Amino acid sequence: MTDIEVPLAPPLSAASVAGRSFNEMPLSPRLLATLQQLDYLTMTSIQAASLPIALAGHDLIAQAKTGSGKTAAFALAVLTNLNPRRFAVQAMVLCPTRELADQVTQEIRRLARGEDNIKIMTLCGGTTLRPQRASLEHGAHIVVGTPGRIMDHLERGSLNLEALNTLVLDEADRMLDMGFYDDIAFVARQCPAGRQTLLFSATYPEGIERLARQFLRNPQEVKLLEQHDGSKIRQRFYEVKHEGRLPAVAILLKHYRPVSTLAFCNTKQQCRDLLDVLHAQGFHALTLNGDLEQRERDQVLIQFANRSCSVLVATDVAARGLDIARLEAVINVDVTPDPEIHIHRIGRTGRADEDGWALSLCSPADKRRVGAIAQMMGSEPEWHGLGSLQSGNDSPLVPPMVTLQILGGRKEKIRSGDVLGALTGDAGGERKFTREQVGKITVTDQSTYVAVERSSAREAVRKLSAGKVKGKTVKVRALED
Ligand code: ADP
Ligand code: MG
Repeated sequence: MTDIEVPLAPPLSAASVAGRSFNEMPLSPRLLATLQQLDYLTMTSIQAASLPIALAGHDLIAQAKTGSGKTAAFALAVLTNLNPRRFAVQAMVLCPTRELADQVTQEIRRLARGEDNIKIMTLCGGTTLRPQRASLEHGAHIVVGTPGRIMDHLERGSLNLEALNTLVLDEADRMLDMGFYDDIAFVARQCPAGRQTLLFSATYPEGIERLARQFLRNPQEVKLLEQHDGSKIRQRFYEVKHEGRLPAVAILLKHYRPVSTLAFCNTKQQCRDLLDVLHAQGFHALTLNGDLEQRERDQVLIQFANRSCSVLVATDVAARGLDIARLEAVINVDVTPDPEIHIHRIGRTGRADEDGWALSLCSPADKRRVGAIAQMMGSEPEWHGLGSLQSGNDSPLVPPMVTLQILGGRKEKIRSGDVLGALTGDAGGERKFTREQVGKITVTDQSTYVAVERSSAREAVRKLSAGKVKGKTVKVRALED
């Protein structure tokens, strides 16, 4: 068992495995040349740790955070095992969503560009089956898809897995969250027993072990826990009675006054309750949950990322894949029972060179959980009392920016420069805005969102409405509740 544990606290670092050259791996000269062209000069930690295992033909469980280069880690093994002259499906990658499947397909295509004609197909729902069936009849070497759609093809007999030598379960934790266990099991049972199985995951919830026990053979394990410079994340625990947690979140926010805070709840109901408490106290807070339509979800994320919403309340599932550059604080409304999830949560703050607060509320009954976290992080928990905070600054916390929504987006060929121009130019009466007063501009299909300094939001709405964007009059409103 290769168990590379990178604890949160320094000094052991992923650097012991990262930074090595791909040339050390038994890869074909053509693949090595492609890697060079792509500017993949050295391996990431997860690649250095998992490639030797995967290339040696072992089953593998690899855990590393999002963005660590897991796709290439399995794609290089898949391409190495492939025989381009054999027109049959030799590798299959299961992904949780269509977007992720598309990304994986793209990355494999990039890596395969120096190889002989290798055909890679994406098989996801949302499109009709028939064209996919026709394409499959012409033969594909690699299929990438969602468990449900692959199952459909297997049931209809349009996908033959007899020649399969590699099965990849990508983002396995997320597939389990989405309830794909039975579909994955169905698909795995249709694969030849002698295949190699590679499982990749950002976290390691219980279900993964069950999946591995059932479908992997003597898997070797590689774990790269997120590595943080412990000094950047200042972690504090507050003991609070169970029923006092939600008001305590407001006390923490007023005391620490972070511009952006991600508050984690264990359930959706708790998210709703916390949102009610925060709104009642005048906080600008939003929540993410599975019931939102894509457009609504985008709006929430845009407002949070451009600093016009102070608090985003979410469950672990809803916060998946969220990548926010500047997050001053993470608040755990409950300590989670799983220390790895805790570490994953707090790792979202203190990025780049900025400090971050990781504040956790803990009921007396859950203090044991903090013990497990401290052990895993190799540090003593710092306990503080809420009482000491109450005398602090009691004025409401107000986000620095406001988001304006312009009706019209990519479909109308609006670009961010058009909006910036409309605000900083002469048109529309009002005074000209400086670049510094304008924040992030996000263009979506139907709408464009621009963050402006709170104090000049009204003026900005007037200026944009009176002037023109891309030569047209536009409807503008501020997204404030
Ligand atoms: P993960 O699946 O772990 O979330 P990805 O496989 O999507 O991460 O990789 C994240 C990004 O890193 C991608 O843009 C990919 O092209 C890039 N990448 C992967 N490996 C390397 C490498 N060795 N050198 C440079 N960039 C890399
Ligand atoms: Mg990935």
